[in-house]
Amino acid sequence: MKARVLIIEDEPELGELVQLYLSKDGIDSDIAVSAEAGFESMAEGSYDLITLDINLPGMDGFEFLQDLRQKSDIPVLILSAREGDEDIVLGLGLGADEFVNKPFSPKVLVAKIRAILRRSLSGRDNFIPDSIAFGPFSLSPEGYYLEKNSNRILLSTKEFEVLRFLVQNPGTAFTPDEIYRTVWGQEYGDITTVGVYIQRIRKKIENSPALPEYILTIHGRGYLFDKRKLKGES
Ligand code: CA
Repeated sequence: MKARVLIIEDEPELGELVQLYLSKDGIDSDIAVSAEAGFESMAEGSYDLITLDINLPGMDGFEFLQDLRQKSDIPVLILSAREGDEDIVLGLGLGADEFVNKPFSPKVLVAKIRAILRRSLSGRDNFIPDSIAFGPFSLSPEGYYLEKNSNRILLSTKEFEVLRFLVQNPGTAFTPDEIYRTVWGQEYGDITTVGVYIQRIRKKIENSPALPEYILTIHGRGYLFDKRKLKGES
């Protein structure tokens, strides 16, 4: 299946440049010059990923992302000219999957888009992988989904990967640094991002996120998935 990307970018030259890089890699795309136009494009066609500019006329990229996440878990890569960790943390908190700063290397951009597409499209394959059960939940490590009482719970790719890493290694505490290196695959970065993700996952799986039962905080050490919650374990 051919992937289709929606590029939300108000600078025409830049939008066309991204489109060109993607087309060289066999990925189709459309350009929307504002967040509002982006929603219109999404109503008309279906996309596998969105690249999102932050500084846009009218609704900005963060507002777009906030609205989008009410109705869709489509992967979003933020393409931002703004520097700074606050932007990244805010974007991730709102449900972005990946960040690339302008000016960007076309190779890095396309590689990151490819990696996200590979993960999200593989979830659509027909095979039913083994799942891991805990509480009312069922997590499919290869299928990239989490269900609660057979209802799908929307998780971004990185939320899923953080949860999967902890669930697959129950009873072991990991520092934010270890989680960051494993899930983001980078040696250096803003590890406070990990805490943001843990909070977001807790909101989706814990009865009371402030008093978590599944993902516990081990002071001075990090986070641990409670082994006793796994079905078939004691
Ligand atoms: Ca812009």
